[in-house]
Order: sequence, then structure tokens, then C-alpha cells
Amino acid sequence: MTDNKIENELDTDNLQRFIFDNKPVRGEWVQLDSSWKEVLVRREYPVAIQKVLGEMMAAAALLAATIKIKGRLILQTKSNGPASVMMVECTSNNTLRAFAQWKGDVADDADLLAVTGDGTLAITIEVEGAKQPYQGVVSLAGDSMSGVLETYFQQSEQLATRIWLAADDQVASGLFLQQLPSDQDEQDEEHWSRISQLAATVTTTELLTLDSNTLLHRLFHEEECRLLVKTDLRFACSCSRDRVEETIKLLGKQDAFDLLEEHGKIEIACEFCNEHYHFDNVDVTQVFVGSEVEIKTPDSETQH
Ligand SMILES: [Zn+2]
Repeated sequence: MTDNKIENELDTDNLQRFIFDNKPVRGEWVQLDSSWKEVLVRREYPVAIQKVLGEMMAAAALLAATIKIKGRLILQTKSNGPASVMMVECTSNNTLRAFAQWKGDVADDADLLAVTGDGTLAITIEVEGAKQPYQGVVSLAGDSMSGVLETYFQQSEQLATRIWLAADDQVASGLFLQQLPSDQDEQDEEHWSRISQLAATVTTTELLTLDSNTLLHRLFHEEECRLLVKTDLRFACSCSRDRVEETIKLLGKQDAFDLLEEHGKIEIACEFCNEHYHFDNVDVTQVFVGSEVEIKTPDSETQH
């Protein structure tokens, strides 16, 4: 009875920021339900790959929430193991999307390295209007995605950071804790040490099943933990038929019609949402008719 009640009250697909009164520590909690299931209905993954991809999706939401930009944050692994590419994107519109490319067999209990093999995790931040994206890269080492991300923070930022992640076939969830810049006196170090030790008692089951209020109260009831705003998150893919048309244009007319001749149609699938876009002879002709008109426009204008 009680369990059902708690489950019905679960308010998921959101991110909760929190701080501690008079202590230079900030935190975030995220739990993804529908948005994560939207990823899973689009492709089937072995249990161990599903776990890492879900953890990456929770992590992308947590990391994106630490930066105040208009744009997107992308986490991408490239490696030589069964999962060769895993990619998650979180935008400043609070949308998420994710996919993994994989082949072969992976044991259900495989750890990170058994899933990815040797490779890297890239953290890319694209700010709208900026010429160059920011990118940080860290080796895939150790047994967990949270460990890899903690190493990244250790190398790239001077701020102590702890991350806990969990994912199953229903929920992806995470907890993030970071020491904020301060005078770094002894007392601040003690606060950090105590709060991060309290957070480290969190279990996978707690991350996956508890709502933010219950979990944060359970972990930090002896601290003055203050909940800030909650952000709703959802799955969304930015692919469209128009964008696919642009891709076909980039192929060039000759290559596009060669493809068409070979396969009878051009089929392009979006990696993220698995939407399939089909272009037959009429469609491809239309794509290039449009571009020719555009190209001719300046000439025809000068003739007038
Ligand atoms: Zn898509």
C-alpha cells in the first residue's frame, strides 16, 4: 500500500537543484522516466549498455544544469568495445535525446570497460552563436561512468565534484555534488567532507525509486539543505525532413541520383530517434529543383 502510494506520487523527468545554507556546496538531483523510456522504445539495448547509456543521460542533464548557456551539452563516447559510440544531448530548452551503436554480446553485469572497451568520453558544449564549441576529453577508465566524469572534473576544473548515477529499464537517475569556490578554510573543507560522505551513502535503489524530497531528506536531514527550483525535462529530437533534404543536397545531385538508381530510393534514419526518412525519384528531383531555383535567382534578378 505504502509503496504504491509513493510510486504514484513520483514526480519524475525533472531536475532539482539544492544548496546548503552558509556552506559552499551545491547539489543537483535528476530522475528521468518518460524521457528515458522514449529512448528505449526506439532501440533495443543489452542490459549493460542500457545501464551506461541511461547513466550518461542522467549525467548530461546534471552537467547541463551547471552551465548557464543557450545551446546544448553533448556527452559522447568513442571506443573499440561492443558499444562503439554512445551519445547523449541535453539542450537549454530542457530536452534530451540519446542513442548507442553496438554489436556483439555483452554480459548483463558487464562494467563500463567491458561495455565500451578502450576509448574516450568527450564533453562538448555548444553555445548558440559561438564560433567554436568547448570540448573536454577524458579516457574511459575505471568501472563506472560516474568515475570517468569525476576524473574529468578533477582534470578540468579545480572544484571537488562527486557524481552518483543509476539506470535500469524504467528510470535513469543521478546525484551531483560540487564544492563551490570559497576561501577554502578548514571549516569549508569539513563541510564538504561531511556532506559528500552523507551523499555517498546513497544506494542505486534509492536513486531509482525515491523522489527528490524523500531522498534529499534521507541523506541530508541533519544539514540545512535548501531546495531550489525544479526543472522539467523531456525527450525531443530536432531531426526533420527539411534537415534530411539539406543532407541530400550536400551529397550533390550526381551522388544522390546514383544512390537512387542503386537502391530505388534514398532512406536516411535519424540515429537519435530512429525516424526513417524516405526519398523516391520524385522527392529527390524536388530537392534539387528547389536548389537550382535558388541558385538562378540572382541571375534572373540582374536580367530585369
Ligand atoms: Zn530524430
